[in-house]
Amino acid sequence: DVHDIGKNIVGVVLACNNYEVVDLGVMVSSAKILEAAIREKADIIGLSGLITPSLEEMVHVASEMEREGFRIPLLIGGATTSEMHTAVRIAPAYSQPVIHVRDASRATSVVASLLSADQKPGFTRAVSNKYADLRHKHENTRAGVTYVSLKQARKNKFNTDWSTSWPVKPLFTGIKRFTSYSLEEISHFIDWTFFFHAWKISGKYPQIFEDPLKGTEAKKLFNDGQDMLKRIIAENMVQADGVIGFFPARSMNDSVELYDETSGKYTHSFHFLRNQEEKEPGIPNLCLSDFIAPSGSGIPDYMGFFAVTAGLGIEKHAEKFIEENDDYSAIMVKILADRLAEAFAELLHQRVRREFWGYTPDEDLPLDKILSEEYQGIRPAPGYPACPEHSEKRSLFELLSVEETGIDLTENYAMYPAASVCGYYFAHPQSQYFNVGRIGRDQVEDYASRKGLTVPETEKLLAQNLNF
Ligand code: SAH
Repeated sequence: DVHDIGKNIVGVVLACNNYEVVDLGVMVSSAKILEAAIREKADIIGLSGLITPSLEEMVHVASEMEREGFRIPLLIGGATTSEMHTAVRIAPAYSQPVIHVRDASRATSVVASLLSADQKPGFTRAVSNKYADLRHKHENTRAGVTYVSLKQARKNKFNTDWSTSWPVKPLFTGIKRFTSYSLEEISHFIDWTFFFHAWKISGKYPQIFEDPLKGTEAKKLFNDGQDMLKRIIAENMVQADGVIGFFPARSMNDSVELYDETSGKYTHSFHFLRNQEEKEPGIPNLCLSDFIAPSGSGIPDYMGFFAVTAGLGIEKHAEKFIEENDDYSAIMVKILADRLAEAFAELLHQRVRREFWGYTPDEDLPLDKILSEEYQGIRPAPGYPACPEHSEKRSLFELLSVEETGIDLTENYAMYPAASVCGYYFAHPQSQYFNVGRIGRDQVEDYASRKGLTVPETEKLLAQNLNF
C-alpha cells in the first residue's frame, strides 16, 4: 500500500530488537516480495495495508506463497486488516502460519515465538485454533442477519418531503482551487486524538495526559509533535493544496447524475450502494443518493466534491531524517502530514458550510463540536462504510481534475501522497453516515451494469461487501 507509517514503526521496533528488516517500500508486487524473500533468505514475510483493495492483494500474496511452496510464516498488519479477515480470507489461502499482528508493539513477541524452535509449534497451534473459532463465529453471525432484495431495499429508501426542505443553491457552481494554503491556519483544526491513534496509543486528547499508564509518554510524544509541527510550518516543509466543486445533481435510484445548469444535459454519474439488511419498521435502507432530490421531482439540488493534500514535498524530508538515522522524526513528520490533511478537510468543510455553499452561514461551533460532527451535512469518503467502493475515486478525480493539485491515484485507488483526503459533500439536514454492509448478487449485478463493468470485475471491487 502507499501508506507506510505503521510498517515503518514495525520496522523500527524489530530493528531495535536486533532483527534484520528488509523494507521493500510501498506498492510492491507479490512477485517482487517473494523474489526478495528467497534472495534474502527471509525467515518471515510481513505485509502491511491501509485500504480495502490491499486486503485482496494480501490474499493473492498468500496464495502465491502456497503455489510456490513457501514454508515461512506470513504476518499481516495495517489499518483495515483484522484478525477476522485474516482468519476468514487470508489464512485459508496458505498452509503455513498466517498471523495477524494488531500493532507494532506486538511484532517482537510474535516474531520471537515464530523463530524459536521451542515456542513455534505451541504458538502456531494456538493461533490456528483461534482462527478456526473465528471462522466458525463468522459463519454464525452471517447466518443471523436477514437480507432483503435490492428491489425491497429501494422501496424502503430514506424519504423526505423535498418541497419543505428545498435545497440551498451553492454560492458558485464549478471548481475552486486552493494552493499553498496556510499550514498555520490548518493546524488549528487538527484532531490530536488521531495523532495518538497513529502512534498506537489509544485514548482521547487531552484526557490522555491524566492516564496513569500512558500519560507521561503521551505528553512527551505530544511535545515532540508540537515541536515538529512548528518546524513544518516555519520551514514550509509541506505544501497544502486542495480543490472543491459543486454541481447541479439529481438522483436516479442509487446513482447521482450531475448535469449542466444551462442545457440540463447529463455530464457525470456517481454510483452508490444501498444497505440490504432487513430493518425494523420505520428504519430506512440507506443509500447516499437518497440525500439528493430525485430526477423528475422538479427540485434543483446540488452535490459537492473535494480533494485535499498536505503531503506535497514530504518525501524528501522523511528521507533526510532517515539518512540521519532519525526514524522517529521521519515517522513523526508523516504522521503530522496526515493530521494536516485531515485538518485541511475539516477546515474547508467548515468554509463550505459557511461561505462557499453557504447553507449554514451562521454556524459558529467550537472545535470539539466540529470534530464530533455536530454540524449540518456530511463529507463521506469513498472507501469508507457509506460508500465502500474505491474505484469511484477515479470519477471524482476526473470531475475535479484532482491530478492538477499533485495527488495521484494508484491502480488500486489509493491516493499518493498518502497524506491526502477526498470525498463528497451532502448538505441535506438529515444526511448521515451509515454502513452499506453486505450486499446481494442482485445489487452486484445492478452495480456492474451501472458502472459498465463485468460482474467478475465488480465482485473484485466489492470483495469486502459480498453476501455470498
Ligand atoms: N478528525 C479525524 C478525521 C475524521 S474521520 C482525523 O483527524 O483523522 C471521519 C471522516 O471519515 C468523515 O469526515 C468522513 O469523511 C469519513 N467517514 C466516517 N464514517 C464514514 C462512513 N460511514 N461513510 C463514509 N465516510 C465516513
